[in-house]
Amino acid sequence: MRQGGAAMVYKLADALSLHRLILNYMNPVTNVSFDDTAVAFSSKSDAELYKMYLLFKSMNSNTFVKVGGSLLNLALNLHLPVKFIIKPTIFNHFCGGETIEESERAIQELARYNIGTILDYSVEGEGDEKSFNATRDELLRTVEKAKGNPNIPFSVFKVTGLIDIKLLEKVQARQELTADERAAFERGRERVNAICQRCFQANVRVFVDAEESWIQETIDNLTYEMMELYNREKAIVYNTYQLYRHDRLEVIKRDYEQAVERGYFVGAKLVRGAYMEKERRRAQEDGYQDPINPNKKASDALFDEAVRYCVEHLDRIALCAGTHNENSSYLLMELMEEKGIAPNDERIFFAQLYGMSDNLSYNLAKAGYNVAKYVPYGPVEAVMPYLLRRANENTAIAGQSSREFGLIRKEMERRKKAKR
Ligand SMILES: Cc1cc2nc3c(=O)[nH]c(=O)nc-3n(C[C@H](O)[C@H](O)[C@H](O)COP(=O)(O)OP(=O)(O)OC[C@H]3O[C@@H](n4cnc5c(N)ncnc54)[C@H](O)[C@@H]3O)c2cc1C
Repeated sequence: MRQGGAAMVYKLADALSLHRLILNYMNPVTNVSFDDTAVAFSSKSDAELYKMYLLFKSMNSNTFVKVGGSLLNLALNLHLPVKFIIKPTIFNHFCGGETIEESERAIQELARYNIGTILDYSVEGEGDEKSFNATRDELLRTVEKAKGNPNIPFSVFKVTGLIDIKLLEKVQARQELTADERAAFERGRERVNAICQRCFQANVRVFVDAEESWIQETIDNLTYEMMELYNREKAIVYNTYQLYRHDRLEVIKRDYEQAVERGYFVGAKLVRGAYMEKERRRAQEDGYQDPINPNKKASDALFDEAVRYCVEHLDRIALCAGTHNENSSYLLMELMEEKGIAPNDERIFFAQLYGMSDNLSYNLAKAGYNVAKYVPYGPVEAVMPYLLRRANENTAIAGQSSREFGLIRKEMERRKKAKR
């Protein structure tokens, strides 16, 4: 029975994808096409576009990224001066700068096209009390920067930047804590509260990022506590739901019911999820049920179901679709249209990462939707793991060039033709 139901959902998702593919050309519903590269790259001069072309061309090579990535890591570990190569190239493309001040250029560039910035302090600290406090203080500075600034509609943080990951895991596993551990957890909780409280006072919405399943329940519980404290009038604190996990739609529904019962609003950032390989490996090694959907199609279907559920329950839910997936983004636009929800309704945001999927961000913003981009920042050495993940994502997939690389080439061709 359940399997039959799932098959129906997939068939429906397939039919809708095909439907959208056709609509993409006629486009009667939303008048937005993510294939419009002229809009997508409107902020880029020919020279900037060519620089992007060279960057994505290098990343498109699997061998280059593999070998280059290892060499860069080695060079950084040996303290060799490679920053001068990284900073003007891959770093500048995917990051705002090394500090909040340096990120101003990216904030202004996005703001000119009505795209908001989410300053993402991407530094993984040493994991001790000193680094947790330093991260809290830096996050508080991002909140100050966002206060009253329409170009920065959200703040964001990861709980592992504020509380020891081993402690989060121990709490989730319901292992007995020592007195020191209990005190450390309480200090971590206070750091989380300090940020959420400041966001509440400054009227800045804040995303709590989702992480690995073995600590996510602890993160969820902290976030529910914050939502109950600060989301009485509207959604200030947003939890993140990873729809590659097969249980998450049920969790969203449960969270909605709880919010109704206790009288607060749910902030829901929907993502597919970033830790799939790690999750599968651990489930297999430790012999428990894999928390991830069996395949991509199932994750896509569940993500879209979650989008539908949130749009149906906007009375209590404010939604942010954190995705680069075009079908899911078209779906959300169509649902808004169907329900007569204005594109700039404060309860709905689209979000992407800086330096990626500008075809979504710029086209959505031009059509009047609320769009924001994560703009990571931090010292070059510290954001290297983030940059290597982006490089890996943009390698050629099964001989096909990455989506971004294809779009850049398409726009270069278009500009060449236009000049003839
Ligand atoms: C603004 C923003 C915020 C984000 N915040 C977070 C966060 O807090 N926590 C977090 O974990 N991630 C976060 N992400 C990353 C996100 O989870 C995805 O990894 C990434 O965006 C790619 O998914 P997609 O929806 O853009 O599109 P797609 O490219 O269509 O989907 C790729 C995703 O599908 C899923 N998938 C792929 N293959 C399979 C398979 N075989 N079986 C099951 N599922 C599969 C995986 O989740 C994969 O990342 C964020 C992304 C954005 C844009």
